[in-house]
Amino acid sequence: MNTSASHDPNCIFCKIIAGQIPSKKVCEDEQVYAFHDINPWAPVHFMLVPKAHISSMAQLGQEHAALMGHIMTLAPRLALEQGCNPYPDGGFRVVVNTGAEGGQEVQHLHVHVMGGPRPWAKG
Ligand code: 5GP
Ligand code: ZN
Repeated sequence: MNTSASHDPNCIFCKIIAGQIPSKKVCEDEQVYAFHDINPWAPVHFMLVPKAHISSMAQLGQEHAALMGHIMTLAPRLALEQGCNPYPDGGFRVVVNTGAEGGQEVQHLHVHVMGGPRPWAKG
């Protein structure tokens, strides 16, 4: 299995990034695509994904530090823009499911960002 090809034609998130499958886009830049989860657990639930196909967090190395730093610093800004309430009374949850035992269903690295008033459907 190739875990680091820049585009995997069989990957559902690569197809979303390429516009072959429709999605509700949050934002996009050269490196990152953000879109709403089709099955939200919380009033706000979107995902940040690298445009390059990386199967999971388990494949990350030092060469991905800038990309992941970019994703993690985008998250708080987008969370507020998408309707999460401000810290500390509001806030948000960040989840990166990794591997079968980590509960990962889609094998393209994605950072879930969830927030909004409780209760949530899950999480
Ligand atoms: P995982 O369990 O791998 O961390 O999360 C995968 C997430 O992708 C799930 O929350 C699921 O709802 C979401 N998802 C799966 N297929 C699609 C899709 O076609 N479009 C969108 N927007 N989200 C999807
Ligand atoms: Zn992919």
